[in-house]
Amino acid sequence: MPSGLPDAMHLHRFFVPSEWLQHDRISLDGQVAHQLSRVLRLKPGDEIELLDNSGAAWRVQLLEVSPRQCLADRLRCHYPDTEPPVPLILYQGLPGGRKLDLVLQKSTELGATRIVPVLASRSVKAERPEAGGGRLERWRRIVQEAAEQSGRARLPEVSDIVTLDRAIQDIDAGDLCLVGALDDNVPGIRDVLESHHLPAAVRIFVGPEGGFDDDELALLRSGRVVSVSLGRRILRTETAGLAMLTVVGYALGEMSTKGADASL
Ligand code: SAH
Repeated sequence: MPSGLPDAMHLHRFFVPSEWLQHDRISLDGQVAHQLSRVLRLKPGDEIELLDNSGAAWRVQLLEVSPRQCLADRLRCHYPDTEPPVPLILYQGLPGGRKLDLVLQKSTELGATRIVPVLASRSVKAERPEAGGGRLERWRRIVQEAAEQSGRARLPEVSDIVTLDRAIQDIDAGDLCLVGALDDNVPGIRDVLESHHLPAAVRIFVGPEGGFDDDELALLRSGRVVSVSLGRRILRTETAGLAMLTVVGYALGEMSTKGADASL
């Protein structure tokens, strides 16, 4: 890489509407212009990367920088290899307070392709997130920032809160579906992953602070969701989902500088 060019680790990235990327000369406004000029204090000549959730990443060079509008030239396009080999979906039992914010950010870094908050019978009722469209917008913003920071060219989908009944309807025949369970008699996640071939998708279920109740566990079993142990210590709900994503990612070959080797 020629000196003076920011390497991929330090490049500022932004998801923008795909219309912005149709022409060689790009106009950037709104929040992106504000961020470039006021927050990052970038100058003409500096390079950034623009993404439109298509998988492509455009390197662009800034020509004019001002808080209301910036102009940039498209330089070149590439396709970052930062997605897991199969969809990784996290069904997170809705936790209290703002813990879901952390789960959204970290699971995006760890390669989740979709995050679905699940309202479980023991989800802390008094602390359910604010109702209405506001929360979904906020959750998507968290995921977008995490995707920009971690170099992903595709945004994980964030669904609004669903019931467990609804969540298990997503399951297809070729999927590997796992639920973290504290039962003494369940196999360790490592054994289950080692005995599986590459599934079409991996769906990970995690209970809320109080765990899933017996009816919910029965429902999961009826949906072919396999109970697995994460070891002898009880993890907090926000830790458990992230730990499962990490080990599933590892089994899929994600923890390597090369593209995933697409085997479990
Ligand atoms: N008080 C609850 C603990 C729930 S922990 C109880 O005793 O059931 C929240 C969720 O994290 C659990 O529902 C489970 O899905 C997951 N989890 C936490 N620790 C785990 C472990 N050691 N193995 C498997 N799953 C675990």
